Amino acid sequence: MIRVQSVAPHSLGAELGLVAGTQLLAVNGRPLEDFLDWEFLTAEDAFLLRATLPTGEEIEYDIERPEGLPLGVTLEPPRIRRCANHCDFCFVDGNPQGLREVLYIRDDDYRLSFRYGNFATLTNLKPWDEARIVEYRLSPLYVSVHASDPVIRRWLLRNPEAPAIIPQLRAFGAQGIEFHAQVVLVPGVNDGTTLGRTLADLWSLGQAILSVAIVPVALTEYSKHQSVRQPTREECRAALALLSDFATRAVAERGHPWCFGADELYLRADEPLPQAEWYGDFEQRENGVGAVRYLQTRITAAVDGLADLRGRRIAIATGTAMAPLMPQVVVDLERATGATFEVLALENPLYGSAVTSAGLLPGAAFLAALRGRSDVDLALLPAEAVNDDLRFLDDLEAEALATRLPMPIRFSYDFADALAETGQSESQT
Ligand code: SF4
Repeated sequence: MIRVQSVAPHSLGAELGLVAGTQLLAVNGRPLEDFLDWEFLTAEDAFLLRATLPTGEEIEYDIERPEGLPLGVTLEPPRIRRCANHCDFCFVDGNPQGLREVLYIRDDDYRLSFRYGNFATLTNLKPWDEARIVEYRLSPLYVSVHASDPVIRRWLLRNPEAPAIIPQLRAFGAQGIEFHAQVVLVPGVNDGTTLGRTLADLWSLGQAILSVAIVPVALTEYSKHQSVRQPTREECRAALALLSDFATRAVAERGHPWCFGADELYLRADEPLPQAEWYGDFEQRENGVGAVRYLQTRITAAVDGLADLRGRRIAIATGTAMAPLMPQVVVDLERATGATFEVLALENPLYGSAVTSAGLLPGAAFLAALRGRSDVDLALLPAEAVNDDLRFLDDLEAEALATRLPMPIRFSYDFADALAETGQSESQT
């Protein structure tokens, strides 16, 4: 059963009398378990819907709608599938106390993998889930493989029940389901020959594996440092060398590199990032793979539309991971706008200096870095650092931050978005 959260005014759903709180029970006699059932079973233009209104009245609607007309129904958020694993490197366990409750949820949900690109381990699938992945063609999915060796993978996931991943992926692949895979690199556990075997096993699955990302394990001050450590420069270099062998073969045989190192892997290895073309469609960008090059391509594409900001002094506040790469980006921005940019590399006071991502910076970090800077005309902050309610991880609201700073702030994904707007409407929070 799923429940309606809201119905758009004047929509078909409103005409039918659906209201917030209506329980949606079945479509064409098939019970509705979640948003996936709702979306797939109501994709036709004609169907029977059984529902219970908040008054308790049960109704069956015989719906026929003009092709493509949406019902205008928004569902309550789904109950998230919790993770059954206990990885030593779990970022959730690396959270300090006192953050928003949602930040302590360990999700492992193939539905969110399909919808939002969240990585799932597929260790909690029931036969019913497997059947609907195939029936609804939930593809591509994003899967955390880590190691193809079942024993090593179970150790990494701290889950003795985890099924062997390669047969699982093979079975899905035979049904036409495709995957983007990731390996979180844990030195001494799944690097070296284990990583070579994992890549070889994934390669053997053919077109079912669209891409593989190697991501160095990320730890915070609160992680289980007695059990897991971050890879050294040499270990990152070794992983990149292995990856390069597979990528060379993949380019020759499939026309694209297939396996990629996260930007962080190159940074830790102290090696240059590949050029933008290497990343194709940047399919694992959200996983930190090609994020810097993507940013540069976005700026290059937007250069002509950027505002004339001559004489302005603009601060770019970012994490320590991106900061060393920013000079490459800043040169393009200065040339296009005439403004002077200053990159502020912020350490993370919440998770510790080992956490270098801009998206994990708390509001307090921006406040500390910017409050005394009356010499700055505008500050650009990473949009990934706030949620939909414009709150930072430490619950500081963007508006509250803005009132405490001497300059206006703007949130930006790629600078071009904020700087084009700035020219039109002057800066604002
Ligand atoms: S799979 Fe591991 S890292 Fe991911 S949420 Fe579960 S315990 Fe955490």
